[in-house]
Amino acid sequence: MPQTILAIDDSPDIHQLLRVRLKHLDIKLESATNANEAYERLEESSPDLILLDVCMPDANGFDLCRQFKLKPETANIPVIFLTGAADVDQKVLGFEVGAVDYIAKPFDPAELNARVRAALRTKRYLDMLAQRAMIDGLTGLWNRANFDQRLMEEVAGAARYERPLSLVMLDVDRFKSINDNYGHPFGDEVLQAVGDVLAKNARTTDVACRYGGEEFAVILRETDLVGANVFAERVRTQLEMLMIRHKGKQVMVTASLGISSNELCMNPMDLSRQWLVESADQALYKAKETGRNRVCVCDRH
Ligand code: GH3
Ligand code: MG
Ligand code: MG
Repeated sequence: MPQTILAIDDSPDIHQLLRVRLKHLDIKLESATNANEAYERLEESSPDLILLDVCMPDANGFDLCRQFKLKPETANIPVIFLTGAADVDQKVLGFEVGAVDYIAKPFDPAELNARVRAALRTKRYLDMLAQRAMIDGLTGLWNRANFDQRLMEEVAGAARYERPLSLVMLDVDRFKSINDNYGHPFGDEVLQAVGDVLAKNARTTDVACRYGGEEFAVILRETDLVGANVFAERVRTQLEMLMIRHKGKQVMVTASLGISSNELCMNPMDLSRQWLVESADQALYKAKETGRNRVCVCDRH
């Protein structure tokens, strides 16, 4: 995916010049000629870099940059000032309000290119690190921190738009004895295989996570109880049929699954991340109690 740059400058000539000077880079260049247009572009999508004019008739670039840095949606987008002023104080102020760099007008083509490319490179590394911080190293699924964040967002979204939302919790059966009998590295292989089954069955809109240890959780967006049951039962059967071998001998792996869904919440005021997790956990406990290798649904409460 090419990275996106948003140029905010009142002069059409500057936009034209940037288009010419940056055309050989693999980027998408968007333009805004005033603060309102800039906010509209930022509502539509999040660029990887903002090139920001300091002096515009309707806005002061420094104030605009301060505002970007205060909002969580724009705080992490690097800003480079396009400044006509050679004044050191102005350059320093740019850094103080949160910019990563400045480029003096009139642009030197080589310098413009070098500074833009450096900023985009750093942004790519930071995005990669941010993504890695949310991924479980063993299974490649989302990790617990990301699960907590996403579930909070999904609960809010489901309530606002009255959308169905379900949560499936999965716990590998008798996993301790798999570790004890075949060793920890083989236990890790089993966890990876479970992760693969979940990832394969989840839709791109679902959020499959390693909750911790041998427990997994899948947030099923826009999915009601019927859909969640189909998903959980499919995962359970695929795990049961999984061919995992240890020294040539097939090892049986099963899991118990618990489902909660917002349609089972009697009082909408009660619905929260905690309600969904505790309810799915309660259903999971029921699945363990009643014999393991099964799917249970939480009570309506
Ligand atoms: P149950 O059917 O009741 O769920 O029994 P269980 O043995 O699966 O449950 P228990 O919670 O007692 O055991 C979980 C085990 O998972 C204990 C722990 O050592 C192991 N475990 C946790 N994280 C990892 C990991 O990353 N790798 C491996 N190999 N084992 C892990
Ligand atoms: Mg467990
Ligand atoms: Mg277990």
